Amino acid sequence: MGKIKAVQIFKPEDLRIIDMDMPVIDEKNNVLVKITASGICGSDVGIYHGQNAAATYPRVIGHEIVGEVVEAGPTAKKVKVGDRVIIDQVTACGHCWACRHGRPNVCQHLQVRGVHIDGGYREYMAVPDKDCYILPDFLRYEDAVLIEPTTIAVQACSRAQLNEEDELLIMGCGALGSRMLSIAKLHGCKIIVADVVDEKLAEAKQNGADYTVNLLKEDLAEKCKEYTTDEYGPTVSIDCACTKDSLGTCIKVTGNAGRVITMGFSVAPTEVTNFGITSKELDIRGSRLQNRKFQEVIDLVNAGKVDLDHKISHTYHFTDAQAAFDFNDTRDPSIRKIVLTMD
Ligand code: MN
Ligand code: ZN
Repeated sequence: MGKIKAVQIFKPEDLRIIDMDMPVIDEKNNVLVKITASGICGSDVGIYHGQNAAATYPRVIGHEIVGEVVEAGPTAKKVKVGDRVIIDQVTACGHCWACRHGRPNVCQHLQVRGVHIDGGYREYMAVPDKDCYILPDFLRYEDAVLIEPTTIAVQACSRAQLNEEDELLIMGCGALGSRMLSIAKLHGCKIIVADVVDEKLAEAKQNGADYTVNLLKEDLAEKCKEYTTDEYGPTVSIDCACTKDSLGTCIKVTGNAGRVITMGFSVAPTEVTNFGITSKELDIRGSRLQNRKFQEVIDLVNAGKVDLDHKISHTYHFTDAQAAFDFNDTRDPSIRKIVLTMD
């Protein structure tokens, strides 16, 4: 049996390039995909640094996974050899309460590729055909990895029940925040973007943010009042910063009867008061992964409503993953999205 190379986080802070067995297709995992690119996400960085409470080790990480179908078993109907695809990272049991109620992304027995089971930083994967989604023809593999973070944004906007009447605060404008902005724009609501990097705020403005706030230079609560109707504050806040204080900050600035969406995975205690939530009767809702949003995003890209070109800032060969993760840790302001390639 042949061997393939993979990036494994053996334990926190211990990244290894390993040899693993070439995957073989079977009845369940009925297609073989030659992986061509896989994005580095904040959660991958969290697993590397031991800050992701869900992850188990050792683990081949990577959940933003694109490639080409190179073998398809007789039961594969959805895709065929030669198709360029992105792979859904969510695998669910199908029979727990969450699954029965249409919420497989929070399945009781959830197994996420790259978190609980091995993911996409490797040369080949065998997966079920139903987990593969065909990429837009015109999209390069490197850019196509962004379909995944865009599904995460679609999920959060859906959890927020975002609509055109809303006045939205997007907290943090990194890779996730900028995807959130592009999806939120489609809902036609007013959008305030807050971050600590002026260059990212300038880009957010170019990409349709109505207002921007630099958290290091301006008072967010004051600016949120100034920029919203009747000084009401945002009706929805989506926390794409996921820092220690960002949830508390979102709760503080959101207007009465508003919705606050959390997306972070930190287990560090954060300061939140009963009064802050009850007095405004806020809805605090978690948004985890995505609930079968891949086709929706691919349709948006194909329709020209979402543009995924020119968003990748750096690419590394996957065997240079250590260098890529080290560079990401420098927090260089030029970093938008780093992608690992396999060719
Ligand atoms: Mn991701
Ligand atoms: Zn389940």
